[in-house]
Amino acid sequence: AKSNGSDSFELYKREMRFQLNEKFQIENDLRKALERGEFSLYFQPQFDARSQRYCGEEVLVRWNHPDEGLISPGKFISIAEETGLINTIGEWVLREACFQKKKWIDNGFPAVPVSVNLSTKQFLKRSIVEIVSDILQASELPPHLLELEVTESITIDIQRTSDSLKRLQSLGVQISLDDFGTGYSSLQYVSQLPIQELKIDQSFVRNIGNGKHNEGIISMIINLAHFLKISVIAEGVETKEQLDYLVGLKCDKVQGYYFSKPLSVVDFERLINNW
Ligand code: C2E
Ligand code: CA
Ligand code: CA
Ligand code: CA
Repeated sequence: AKSNGSDSFELYKREMRFQLNEKFQIENDLRKALERGEFSLYFQPQFDARSQRYCGEEVLVRWNHPDEGLISPGKFISIAEETGLINTIGEWVLREACFQKKKWIDNGFPAVPVSVNLSTKQFLKRSIVEIVSDILQASELPPHLLELEVTESITIDIQRTSDSLKRLQSLGVQISLDDFGTGYSSLQYVSQLPIQELKIDQSFVRNIGNGKHNEGIISMIINLAHFLKISVIAEGVETKEQLDYLVGLKCDKVQGYYFSKPLSVVDFERLINNW
């Protein structure tokens, strides 16, 4: 008779095999997805906190899987990162975003920046600067209309990061530090890195109204940003209460479901035209 322990080990092995298969499956599908044109860009608008004027948008990738339907990046970005596919996918996103933005500008949309998420993995490659530079040239998008969102974990290799950021900045591109407040070492690096914006993580915004501690942190981040003469945006704004609170603290920009979910190109154009 098998002991309880080995039963649960069998279960564990089966579970592991399932997870491995699922991962290989996703990796395989991801490889094909680019050729088949299964990725698309969604755009979430950003607004000036006080005037609620449209001031930019964040690009969020979606995967339209032939069997599974629309898949959110939470399900595949980490696998893309582990397999290195994030470099190809990320470059595609960057290119599409710049060409789309140029088209909007040419059609008379406001000249506000488009923000593209950059994975830590992409960032560790030196060629990221050449890739960005090539795409800017090909798309003819003015560099100041491109903003790159990078996360705090980039600070693992501070020297290299800082070097690449400086070279990107000298192209004229803007840098936003995403998910701020959730990673390590923020305070030490934030003053050293060439960034133009801090993005307050949505976990802080979600907890507005839940206690003084959290609100103290938000207030601290906004004051820190302004002390460093950089702009601050809050993400995940879902309620009027959260918006009013952030406006009260002089947060510069806001983004979240209170204003709009991420939208397809067509829906985004409709929103901006009627804003
Ligand atoms: P993120 O960069 O922190 O993006 C914000 C996420 O919050 C998005 O989820 C967005 O749809 C969601 N969101 C926006 N407003 C609200 C709100 O008011 N409430 C709530 N609860 N959520 C809100 P999404 O689109 O599923 O993306 C998840 C993550 O996947 C992103 O987090 C980002 O880290 C990553 N990602 C998305 N697109 C790309 C990409 O092109 N490249 C890379 N490297 N990562 C990407
Ligand atoms: Ca921004
Ligand atoms: Ca982001
Ligand atoms: Ca974020």
